[in-house]
Amino acid sequence: MNNHKILEIKNLNVNIENNKIINNLNLSIGRGEIHAIMGKNGSGKSTLAKVIAGHPHYTIKNGNIILKSEDITYEEADKRSHKGIFLAFQHPIEISGVNNIDFLRLAYNSKQKTLNKQELDPLSFFERISNQLKDVEMDNTFLNRYVNEGFSGGEKKKNEILQMSLLSSELCILDEIDSGLDVDALKSISSNINNFANSNNSIILITHYEKLIKYIKPKYIHIMQEGKIVYTGDHTTANLIEKYGYDFIDDKS
Ligand code: ADP
Ligand code: MG
Repeated sequence: MNNHKILEIKNLNVNIENNKIINNLNLSIGRGEIHAIMGKNGSGKSTLAKVIAGHPHYTIKNGNIILKSEDITYEEADKRSHKGIFLAFQHPIEISGVNNIDFLRLAYNSKQKTLNKQELDPLSFFERISNQLKDVEMDNTFLNRYVNEGFSGGEKKKNEILQMSLLSSELCILDEIDSGLDVDALKSISSNINNFANSNNSIILITHYEKLIKYIKPKYIHIMQEGKIVYTGDHTTANLIEKYGYDFIDDKS
């Protein structure tokens, strides 16, 4: 079957209280590909991210979301997560009173259970997560702190990467993961993302900035305008946007 495609979105229309936010959108993501979505504020990027992840707030009027050849248009968010979708938030939530390691183990075991795979006891989980912490250059003290509480902007973003790597998510949507990061944190997060990326997972980067694109080099850049993708180019598209703003698209058409 079409298993080289992780995600296919066909003629998607989404409303929020009778306002059309996603308007006949089509998008196709291959396995192992990195795609960026750029566009002005309010063009519908975050809405699209949440709709792919299954956020219950939105009404899908029509269209289909296909994950690995399976129609998940009306699937619940936690099922989508078990099937490989991960959405990293722009502002990761803080959960006071819950240790990061307990939270991560719960997420991991919940996925394992659904897939009829082995769940891990605290000790075995600690071994597993310790190795992954090294990949994102975090130390063990992060495990015993409350989820994201008092984490710097960069540390919160690293914690998101740690989660998607722990869950081996196959379709990772990173909504403005670069927002609020200084240059060093941006470089570090970019290299974490590059290390995570492989031929079996796919990444959607939603961003305003050409810097992240420069470090990560997505295969395609899509520009969204009023709820649809109006232009698709390669990673050099970001230079055009940097130079001319989004209006260069109107000049082209
Ligand atoms: P972007 O991420 O590209 O900046 P959004 O997806 O956040 O855009 O928003 C797209 C449009 O949908 C905006 O006009 C915004 O006001 C509207 N919108 C988004 N979420 C809601 C909501 N929960 N209720 C009402 N309108 C919303
Ligand atoms: Mg947004």
